[in-house]
Amino acid sequence: MSKSSFNRRNFLKLGAAATAGFISSSGKTAEVSSVNPEKQDAVIYRNLGNTGIRLPVVSFGVMRADNPNILKAAYGLGFKHFDTAHGYQGGRNEEMCGNFFKDKPRDSFVIATKVKPERNASGEEFLKMLDLSLERLRMEYVDILYLHAVDDEEYLHSPAFIEAMTLAKKSGKVKHVGFSTHRNMAHLINAAVDKGFYEVVLTTYNFRYAEDDELNGALKRAHEAGIGIVGMKNMAGGWLDEDKTKPVNCKAALKFALSTPYVHTCIPGIVSFDMLMENWSVASDVRLSPSEESDLQLARNEQGMFCSGCSSCVGQCPRNLPVSDLMRSYMYNYAYSYPAKARETVLALNLSDDPCVGCEECTVHCKAGFDVKAKITNIARIGNVPGEFLV
Ligand code: SF4
Ligand code: SF4
Repeated sequence: MSKSSFNRRNFLKLGAAATAGFISSSGKTAEVSSVNPEKQDAVIYRNLGNTGIRLPVVSFGVMRADNPNILKAAYGLGFKHFDTAHGYQGGRNEEMCGNFFKDKPRDSFVIATKVKPERNASGEEFLKMLDLSLERLRMEYVDILYLHAVDDEEYLHSPAFIEAMTLAKKSGKVKHVGFSTHRNMAHLINAAVDKGFYEVVLTTYNFRYAEDDELNGALKRAHEAGIGIVGMKNMAGGWLDEDKTKPVNCKAALKFALSTPYVHTCIPGIVSFDMLMENWSVASDVRLSPSEESDLQLARNEQGMFCSGCSSCVGQCPRNLPVSDLMRSYMYNYAYSYPAKARETVLALNLSDDPCVGCEECTVHCKAGFDVKAKITNIARIGNVPGEFLV
């Protein structure tokens, strides 16, 4: 991690204030301003497309967080938008959000969750998942409901899901509908613009896409069509090597993602107080310094561990292995240090624990230059680890 302009001691001061009740739910800006007025006053806000929601450029990816005190501190600092999902931590992530927000004024935060029904699920099954999410969140509605991890247009525009989301909006359980995507992003974003149904897209976006004209063009088009654009995976894995000796300059990476006006806010995953303060410092200053630019350029020059979801590998394996899903699992484990998610992703693929065994020569050419066979052999075993040992 890059050095934050905040340090733990500063944070602890703020944490103590919050614990002592100085940070109320209604007047949080004023109280936090007394802790750090310069930063708070300068927070940059952007409109989330045509949704009518206006957000600080830095939001909170709750996915891996399991400490409600971090949510409390974030809320006190001025974070407004919190992103969770039906599937995160087997539902505990939504429950933690529900417990924290249950006594907060409903208009003081924006909550987004995601559901990922089976491809052939009915609209009723979709709505059941939403109801369970609302129950865990202890909320009557979510501000944004995403169809989660969309890879192709058929899933994106499934009539059953579109009907379910339309019903959910009509009944008031959902204010805005969106989809999230880690793969095939440019194509799906363009398809969403053409169809005109979705109001928000949550997409992978980071410094490795600086020269990706297709994705940058799709984002511009979506922005101009009034679709809200939320960026994720902004740190491109956070590390450049398995042994974690080469960190990405995360502050610079977040600034890069926000340096395009087409990205309205980003949801860096936050699991520690240091990360919280570091990310929040970007909310008031998204300009990249020359040394930050240079750090990102150096990172771009390294292969790293980030699978861009470019889909170039699709169809190359004679055994039809889902290479990019496996590379994503690898990234969860080795870059994001999130083995539970890596295991969940691997198990969902229903493969053996050594799917490349006996294959003499790997014919898959990964665009990022990964040694695909070695990485698959490494990650596929994680399905054998009992879930209770992993976080
Ligand atoms: S080694 Fe490569 S080609 Fe062979 S099964 Fe594995 S991914 Fe497929
Ligand atoms: S070609 Fe490489 S970077 Fe692209 S999706 Fe496949 S594994 Fe990921």
